[in-house]
Amino acid sequence: MARLTAPLARVLPFWGVRWVRRRRDRHRRDSAPLAPEALRALTGFFPEETLAVARVAIVPRLSISRLLGVSRRFGLPTVDVERILGITYLDTIVVPERRAAPLPLAILFHELVHVEQARQLGVRPFVERYVRGWLEGGRSYTAIPLERDAYELERRYRAAPDEPFDVSAEVARRLTASGS
Ligand SMILES: [Zn+2]
Repeated sequence: MARLTAPLARVLPFWGVRWVRRRRDRHRRDSAPLAPEALRALTGFFPEETLAVARVAIVPRLSISRLLGVSRRFGLPTVDVERILGITYLDTIVVPERRAAPLPLAILFHELVHVEQARQLGVRPFVERYVRGWLEGGRSYTAIPLERDAYELERRYRAAPDEPFDVSAEVARRLTASGS
C-alpha cells in the first residue's frame, strides 16, 4: 500500500482541485442562500462571512458516480455512499432531495464546518489534506481528520443546539493540532 500511496498522494489532489472547482461552479448556479430559520439557529456558531458565503443546492440524488469511477480505476474500495448525507464543494453544499425538506440543522452544521475548513485552509490545501487523510487512514472516509473534526463538532452541536460555541476557533485549533 505504501508504494501506491505516494503516487496517489501526488496525483489525486491535482485532479481533486479541478474536480471540486468544477462541481462547485456547476451547483453554485442552482443554489440558494441559507434559509432565515437556519441562519437564526446557527448565527452564534459560525462567522458571519461563512454563513453569508455558504449556499445550498438541492439535487434529486447525489451524483458522485465520477468519484466512484475513479476509485474503482485505482482499485480502491468505494466510499459508502449511504453514509454521505450531503457533499460540500468549498462553499456550496449539495444535499439530496430526500434530506432537504427541511434540511436537518445538524447536517447543515456538519457541512458548514467543511465550508469553514475550506475557508481557513484555501482550496488546494483543503483538498490535499482531505486526500492525504483518506490515504493515510486506510482509505476510510471516517478516518479522514477533516471528517472526524466535522463529526466531533456536529456531535457537540447536537448535544446542545442552544449553546453556541466558536466553530471558527475550534476548526483553527484542530487544523493546527493535526499538522500541515
Ligand atoms: Zn463531512
